[in-house]
Amino acid sequence: MIILVINCGSSSIKYQLLDMKSDKVYDLLAKGLVEKIGLPMGGLTHKPTGKDPVSREVVVPDHKVGMKMVLDELVNPVSGVLKSFEDIEAVGHRVVQGADFFSSSVLVNDDVIEKIRFCCDFAPLHNPAHILGIQAVKEVLPSVPQAVTFDTAYHQTMPDYAYMYALPYEYYEKYRVRRYGAHGTSHQYVAAKGAEFCGLDLNNSKIITCHIGNGSSISAVVNGKVVDTSMGFTPLEGMIMGTRCGNIDPNVVTYIMKKEGLTPDQMTDIMNKKSGFAGLSGISSDARDLDAAANAGNERAKLVLKKLAYDIIKLIGQYAAVMDGVDLIVFTAGIGENNSRLRRRVCENLSYLGLKFDFEANAVTGKDTLLSCPDSKVKVALITTDEELMIARDTMHLVADKD
Ligand code: ADP
Repeated sequence: MIILVINCGSSSIKYQLLDMKSDKVYDLLAKGLVEKIGLPMGGLTHKPTGKDPVSREVVVPDHKVGMKMVLDELVNPVSGVLKSFEDIEAVGHRVVQGADFFSSSVLVNDDVIEKIRFCCDFAPLHNPAHILGIQAVKEVLPSVPQAVTFDTAYHQTMPDYAYMYALPYEYYEKYRVRRYGAHGTSHQYVAAKGAEFCGLDLNNSKIITCHIGNGSSISAVVNGKVVDTSMGFTPLEGMIMGTRCGNIDPNVVTYIMKKEGLTPDQMTDIMNKKSGFAGLSGISSDARDLDAAANAGNERAKLVLKKLAYDIIKLIGQYAAVMDGVDLIVFTAGIGENNSRLRRRVCENLSYLGLKFDFEANAVTGKDTLLSCPDSKVKVALITTDEELMIARDTMHLVADKD
């Protein structure tokens, strides 16, 4: 089944075209990105498998035009990989926020769109863009079934004492204010793949998944089900991230707003886009830049990297406690897969769990690898994530079940 996976951001459309033969057997036909939608000049990058990549500057006024560009590129006689639009059998979208409406992927219908719309308040940068993407596909490919996969769905198994904030209960009732988590598709994928890779039974296991990238979150997974995760009402909660502050005393927010005369939107912007690695270091939101700066002796870069490791160590400790033990710790995403130094820093601090770290194996980057010694009580693994594949799998099953 040929499936187009779409990840619409506020100003971008990322896509992958996959030919799914089964859950594990598939071909990536093409992938690419339309960016800077709505800006005076945008861009398109298209990478067809086995053909030369295409990259050009182009004005992309809105998501509908962007989606049409993607589809045109897929059937382009030179750079395309399909004969016609009809070859696309289904489209799967990533959706950031599904709140407590969705605990799994679903096929799109009017009710689903209404619920995604309701959740726009919780993900104002993402959910409106997802709706634009769904509508654009509907206009250009009206008869193709569409499915949505939610970043929040996998976390719906959290118990109430993990997802509730100790605020007046009425805010939960009136505004659905609670913890939802994020990156669920990645946590689900690497928990299952990690268990299989390490010879564990997912349904009889305690796993901590560390998705450490530009955005980062850590989950505690018991028997394949999430019992806690570090992101909350929005992806701002939890550990330090590229530009997000993670956990802070909520009083800091109102204090700084009063001192600096900031509006709620300005403060939200600071906490989401100007904090984290970028804000604390004053150098960059990218961990590679901070590694380079730290190597050159920059103290604030060193501080950020120490805090990054410290936050992860704390969360692993919390989740090991919550689960009364842990069988496997998984590292994934841009930093988790590629930054050996960070993994070492974290794992050196986990000897209390009976972890024996394999320092030699840890030199690997970007490839599924066991990082613990054979006699380690807790296994550690680097597992590469693939959210698009998860979306394609779910879409394939939903469309096949429908027929
Ligand atoms: P996003 O949350 O945007 O998907 P990623 O998972 O791609 O982000 O993670 C981005 C982070 O991963 C950056 O801080 C970057 O420094 C780091 N990173 C990505 N690739 C590499 C690499 N090859 N080597 C070291 N660090 C990397």
